[in-house]
Amino acid sequence: MKNKPKKIAVLTSGGDAPGMNAALRAVVRTSVFYGAECYAIQQGYQGLIDNDFKLMNARSVNNIINKGGTIIKSARCLEFRTPEGRKLAYENLKKSEIDALVVIGGDGSFTGAMIFQEEYDFPIVGIPGTIDNDIFGTRYTLGYDTAINTVVEAIDKIRDTASSHNRLFFVEVMGRDAGHIALNSGIGAGAEEILIPEENLGLERLLESLKKSEKSGKSSSIVVIAEGDKTGKNVFEIASYVEKNLPYYEVRVSVLGHMQRGGTPSCFDRVLASRMGVCAVETLLEGKSKVMIGVIDDQMVLTPLEKAIKGKSEINSNLIKVSDILSI
Ligand code: ADP
Repeated sequence: MKNKPKKIAVLTSGGDAPGMNAALRAVVRTSVFYGAECYAIQQGYQGLIDNDFKLMNARSVNNIINKGGTIIKSARCLEFRTPEGRKLAYENLKKSEIDALVVIGGDGSFTGAMIFQEEYDFPIVGIPGTIDNDIFGTRYTLGYDTAINTVVEAIDKIRDTASSHNRLFFVEVMGRDAGHIALNSGIGAGAEEILIPEENLGLERLLESLKKSEKSGKSSSIVVIAEGDKTGKNVFEIASYVEKNLPYYEVRVSVLGHMQRGGTPSCFDRVLASRMGVCAVETLLEGKSKVMIGVIDDQMVLTPLEKAIKGKSEINSNLIKVSDILSI
């Protein structure tokens, strides 16, 4: 980059996640701290195309660190996927003399950012915001910690009912491609079995395990299933398959759905968002771009956007063993 940016814009894009507001606050205040102007773009990439920019100051982000969702809104923007849409976005940025951009979002948002940066040589830094924790280059994404705490709280409540009625509950949690939420919330809530996209245990093994649980004296059980588990069946199909084969269990299904995305961010997510926001602006001011901010071993780490998009975030396979041992 030639010059230190003087006007930095920030947007939230893709699925919302708790901690996005805390990251926005950090980006705005760090820009102001270092003497740069900061503009919030409404509705993700749509706001770039619609020229919907708002000049922020340190007070514009008062009292948002504790709020879920994103006050500057997020949107899925089809126009930004077209060269014409991105051209409009670039022209609007130039008109406002904005010279750098922070994108808070998931890998779809980063793909858009990378294409845009390549086409227009426009400096961009990404902050990973998604509850799925499925982005390469960071141990944690914004919103993930809050989401697993939300899920654990929900499963604790479900367990009260399960144990009062000798029921077997199948709880579906988010995670189409990654089992982080299922695996960690499953262990945290003491689930008997956890089905994740990274591993195909097969339905026979599930039946065997539940039979063993019943024989060992458990009268109720919880099975946590990630949306994208590998059995090829959805949670309702799995539940009815088990009910047919283990008639002594009264089976119920609970799909947690969008409640997992919302809520007050945990302290962990607020601190993570604050650190990432500060680091994103400092990175741009140091003249670096086309990178994603991450945290690994408690250190801030920069990963090229391209690698962040293409790389796979691995689950900790030791957790599978922990779950197997503790669910006897
Ligand atoms: P997430 O960032 O949570 O993965 P999406 O995949 O919906 O969410 O992406 C968010 C937005 O990023 C899209 O609505 C679109 O505007 C932009 N985007 C995603 N993929 C591309 C792409 N290949 N080219 C340009 N823009 C993209």
